[in-house]
Amino acid sequence: MTTAIIAAGGRGRRLGAAVPKQLLTVGGRPMLQLSVEAFANHARVDALVVVLPAEVVSNPPGYLRHSRKPIRLVAGGERRQDSVANGLAAVDDRTDLVLVHDAARPFVDADLIDRAIDGALQSGAAICAVQVRDTIKVAERDDADAGGRAWIGRTLPREVVYLAQTPQAFRRSVLADAVRLGQSGVDATDEAFLAEQAGYRVRLVEGSARNIKITSAEDLALAQSLGDERRPDPGVRSPKSTTDGGAIGGAESQLAGIDVGHRTPDAGLSVGLGYDIHRLVEGRRLILGGVEIPFERGLLGHSDADALCHAITDAILGAAGAGDIGRHFPDTDERWRDASSIDLLRQAVCLIRDKGFAVLHVDAVVVAERPKLAAHVPAIVERVAGALELAPTAVSVKGKTNEGLGEIGRGEAIACQAVALLRKA
Ligand code: MG
Repeated sequence: MTTAIIAAGGRGRRLGAAVPKQLLTVGGRPMLQLSVEAFANHARVDALVVVLPAEVVSNPPGYLRHSRKPIRLVAGGERRQDSVANGLAAVDDRTDLVLVHDAARPFVDADLIDRAIDGALQSGAAICAVQVRDTIKVAERDDADAGGRAWIGRTLPREVVYLAQTPQAFRRSVLADAVRLGQSGVDATDEAFLAEQAGYRVRLVEGSARNIKITSAEDLALAQSLGDERRPDPGVRSPKSTTDGGAIGGAESQLAGIDVGHRTPDAGLSVGLGYDIHRLVEGRRLILGGVEIPFERGLLGHSDADALCHAITDAILGAAGAGDIGRHFPDTDERWRDASSIDLLRQAVCLIRDKGFAVLHVDAVVVAERPKLAAHVPAIVERVAGALELAPTAVSVKGKTNEGLGEIGRGEAIACQAVALLRKA
């Protein structure tokens, strides 16, 4: 299993705020929450350990008490590496892969997590990193110079210089050795350095310019403007992120294991169709598109019975030639009891991305005699678009009645249909 350690034990003194920086908000939500949700919502992350200041451990915010993945809260240590050591000590015994992420990087996304995991699975240790764009000068100072002026000592070839980010991923034994070295007196600003010092080769995988670390008031202002931004239009999505797995300088992961099959030509478009129907019963909440809709009855099912998410999930799986929702999330599996179907949709998006597909557009119809859906459509579109990592303009949801006909017309059920357009990278 894979466990993510979220390092949020620091105080962030450089920000000068009264509360720990990881609890400051970006786009209306605490940075820590954004980081925790990125990992908790990721299909390949099984559990989380969040390292916090002791006073937060004893009185955690709601999003740390109710997570859809097992989550342990532990108190941080003196240095960052001590906090990660405390985190590692709290990792479930069954864990074989550990991600370490700094809560001060709230814009971590599923692609970064995937690339770190893939890198560590292949190479034992991997970190997200971005190649520098600026020319790098190494400074020299003349000890005799009372003015402390700096001079260029030499210029580094920028092709070989990378800025380290998190997530950083390690086989558990590798991180254990790194942490042990850190406890023996070696100081480090990240776990990769300790792993290097412990003799391991650490792989670089593609990071993201958006994945900034917030350490100053200027960073926070920039982050707040990024947090307000809409998700990018799918038309400008980097096709690279879906084709090369983000590996830096390594071709071995390119399209590895992708079953292209005969369904779609390269760079082709494909469409998928999804349909679902659930019975309306008393004593259940009505969830459609991940949004709870006030109504006296709800849909019956093993999961939250979100028929709209189920139809859209089937549509995107269908377009990718990846089977259907029952194959990936069978209702005989206890893991999916009361599962949040919007999370299953997110997982399906990861799954088709692994097969080299990107969702371009989704259109869906909800057929329900009651309740009236029009007022809820904007919230549903927003939520579904978020799960699909699309702009809301690329998602359409329409409500219809069944004109009083049949079981839907009698209000005994709600049915949903969806089509999805995908592009094969
Ligand atoms: Mg269903």
